[in-house]
Amino acid sequence: MKLLYIVIDGMGDLPIEELNGKTPLEAADTPNMDYLARIGISGMMYTVGKGIAPESDVAVLSILGYEPSIYYTGRGPLEVFGSGLSMRNGDLALRCNFATINNEKRIIDRRAGRDLSTEEAKELSEAINKGIRLESYPVDFEFKNTIGHRAILVIRSRAKPLSNKISNTDPAYSMEGGVGVAKANVEMILQSCKPLEDDEMAIISAKLVNEFTEKAHQILEMHPINKKRELLGKLKANAILMRDAGNRLPSLFNINERYGLKFACLVDMPVERGIARLAGMQPIDIPPPSKNIEFDCELRVKKLLEVWNEYDCFYIHIKGPDEPAHDGNFVLKALLLEQIDKSFFGKIIPSINLSDCLICITADHSTPCKLKAHSDDPVPVLISGNGIKNDGTTKFSENEAKKGSLGIIEKGSKLMPLLVEYLKGSRSL
Ligand code: ZN
Ligand code: ZN
Repeated sequence: MKLLYIVIDGMGDLPIEELNGKTPLEAADTPNMDYLARIGISGMMYTVGKGIAPESDVAVLSILGYEPSIYYTGRGPLEVFGSGLSMRNGDLALRCNFATINNEKRIIDRRAGRDLSTEEAKELSEAINKGIRLESYPVDFEFKNTIGHRAILVIRSRAKPLSNKISNTDPAYSMEGGVGVAKANVEMILQSCKPLEDDEMAIISAKLVNEFTEKAHQILEMHPINKKRELLGKLKANAILMRDAGNRLPSLFNINERYGLKFACLVDMPVERGIARLAGMQPIDIPPPSKNIEFDCELRVKKLLEVWNEYDCFYIHIKGPDEPAHDGNFVLKALLLEQIDKSFFGKIIPSINLSDCLICITADHSTPCKLKAHSDDPVPVLISGNGIKNDGTTKFSENEAKKGSLGIIEKGSKLMPLLVEYLKGSRSL
């Protein structure tokens, strides 16, 4: 008996006027997911909880069964760990973006035009690691580009443990109760990092972040890669924005031991990989996402089938639809959902035995195109296969899922235990 747990990033949405009141998922032609809905049951789920518009990290933690109010210690450490860098308690870990600023520190683009190649980012990272020495406190640091404009920074103290009680330099997010929250309508100015409490190490940690920011800007501004980008009419990646400071890794229970099942994961992004690895899942090697989602999906199906017999449960995180939703591009979001349906579900369904496999499809959060941001709106959940009887659901969509027999799951952390119950047959089908 297998469990296939597929999370489609930012899939949930709200009705869109231009789509005749349909959501992108509803408007998309998704015959394979609809088939699973017609033989399964569905419902809606608040991935973290009502009233919380989560970032992916908190949401993924929650929908893998770890209640964030107990387990979450910030995004920075998860990103650092997921990127393969070491992290000890007292190290300061931050999520970073390459960005473009002007002489007045006004942010022209939070993602440096969103066209920074991994090769460019890698070279800029090397220049930062070689060229910067932090002098305001005895520390070492490691800076690493991850995917596109994304990067991470870990600062390791050679004296006292560093503090995570510091503000973001990225104005688009604030820290509220240790959780990164997206802010709307803010002035796009590179912020100076401030201590969030009157504590020696918080003051020192904020100072280190500001020292790094200043020195990184000097190196990046003059770097040949940026000179070249400027000549080509592209935006310079001349600043590093930082957010989501953390100074320890969460201690998660081992998911294999908790449920007596062997878990593997196929995930692209460092933060999801970090969470999955901390949970004890075996990561399956896959290349980073290309621009071609159909190719990526087919490759993932191939990899999945290669290791099919070695594990009981597979967590697969598919990244695509969130990004166009942030741009308000509902047409592209619907198209990506169609491509995922065709190239992932259309390939995997004929290759496995559904009477011997439980499939769950859901999202980590809603990213409504009209909000261009994550929201707390519940996401659709579909559970199918393994002899489950249809509850009358006819299609996979928010509207249909509202009527499903799963009802409303109030907290995403309840889903994984529920899936294991269905898998083991302890819940009636
Ligand atoms: Zn997400
Ligand atoms: Zn997003």
